[in-house]
Amino acid sequence: MEYQPIIGLEIHSELKTQTKMFCDCLNDPEEKHPNTNICPVCVGHPGTLPVANLKAVEAVLKLGFALNSRIPKDSKFDRKNYFYPDLPKGYQISQYDKPLALGGALEIKNQKSNIKIRITRIHLEEDTARLQHSEDGKSSLVDFNRAGVPLMELVTEPDLRNAEDTVKFAKELQLILRYLEISDADMEKGQFRVEVNISLSPENPNNKSQIPNKLGTKVEIKNLNSFRVVGEAIDYEIRRQGEALEKGEVLKQETRGWDDAKKRTVSQRSKEDSHDYRYFPEPDLPLLDLTKLDLEAIKVSVPELPAQKRIRFAKEYGLSDLQTEILIGDRWLAKFFEESMSEFKLQIPNPKSQTLVNYLTSDLMGLMNKEGVKLSELKINPEDFSELVFMVEQGELSSRMAKNILLEMYKTGLDPHEIIKEQGISQVSDRGAIELVVKEVIDANPKAVADYKKGKENALAFLMGQSMAKLKGQGNPKVLIQTLKKIINL
Ligand SMILES: [Zn+2]
Repeated sequence: MEYQPIIGLEIHSELKTQTKMFCDCLNDPEEKHPNTNICPVCVGHPGTLPVANLKAVEAVLKLGFALNSRIPKDSKFDRKNYFYPDLPKGYQISQYDKPLALGGALEIKNQKSNIKIRITRIHLEEDTARLQHSEDGKSSLVDFNRAGVPLMELVTEPDLRNAEDTVKFAKELQLILRYLEISDADMEKGQFRVEVNISLSPENPNNKSQIPNKLGTKVEIKNLNSFRVVGEAIDYEIRRQGEALEKGEVLKQETRGWDDAKKRTVSQRSKEDSHDYRYFPEPDLPLLDLTKLDLEAIKVSVPELPAQKRIRFAKEYGLSDLQTEILIGDRWLAKFFEESMSEFKLQIPNPKSQTLVNYLTSDLMGLMNKEGVKLSELKINPEDFSELVFMVEQGELSSRMAKNILLEMYKTGLDPHEIIKEQGISQVSDRGAIELVVKEVIDANPKAVADYKKGKENALAFLMGQSMAKLKGQGNPKVLIQTLKKIINL
């Protein structure tokens, strides 16, 4: 029998607000000293009262607008009761029947088509403390710095069917959170957590709708700490459930984790139903009247999203899919690129973006990746960067000289003209000296010359490279190419 995997997601993301969700403690994920940012509220002392952080509420609403969700008139906090050492109150303040945003969708593009993944809801809750277990397994320490940090939870409808699309969806959502500047969504730091719900449904070939007509037993996979692991766990689970069903076994509704060493999911506990949590309204927090917020201002604060930028970049700059993806993948990089291009346009009407993209994504990014420098810390401004690329395009600088100057710009933040002046970088533009070199190269490479005369443009590039090497990369490329053509055609 054929089975169709039915996959839905629950994604948690820590919001980057100044303070925690229900107290004034700093929300600082970089804090290294345990139990520094704590107070009686977030360590759950009896008699304390929570106050909701409106910035966190606004952040979730912003995401709601970005995903075309419906924002209800009011919203409510509830207590989710369970016991665990990372939760001193014995309950987590979360949202049950009145979340901040309902519905909406996120579209992703896979190899075949665009698929729309419907969003069920987005709500707000507080993060738990962090447990550190000793190596001998005999003791555990609790760090409350994370306790009470605002945590957004987004739940999707079971619209995904395979690992690849699921990972794509999660990556796109991560990118959106970063574009909205509401979360850094760093998976390695545990700021972005993906939980997968997966079941196999007996496939009905006549069912063309998005919704399967029969659902299998749902298994939840937790603690997936990278996109790679999300993909591997889904593929494994599809195989495991399929084999079990083939053998006629009955699958258990349960929560499983991922064992990365053994590359398999492992049973952790039987899955709770929501009634196990005995949700009830949080009596210490009033109903949130969302109509009192400036919803219009939140809505217009949503910037151009990755999907829109992708279409515009391809159209406006004629970039390949890969180049577009690299640029879009970082909000700062996309901004730097656009600002450089608009400077570039002031110098050349209808400039080609290829040289600029290459210098940006390979040379400049290469320097930055080597030293772990972020674009927001970069000393080079887009104006000077485009000036450098302009000089290359005009044939005033060889690519070797440009790379050296770029390195100086990267270190000092000076503009390229200053560097050329200061370092006394001189170009060989003297036609006499260039002619001498070109003649040598032509004499030494009769085959390339003949090829060029037959119309092979590559041969000219080869001769150009040979001449430039003899000039130690310091020849004026424009003068060089003119001289080559002139002498060959004599
Ligand atoms: Zn606190």
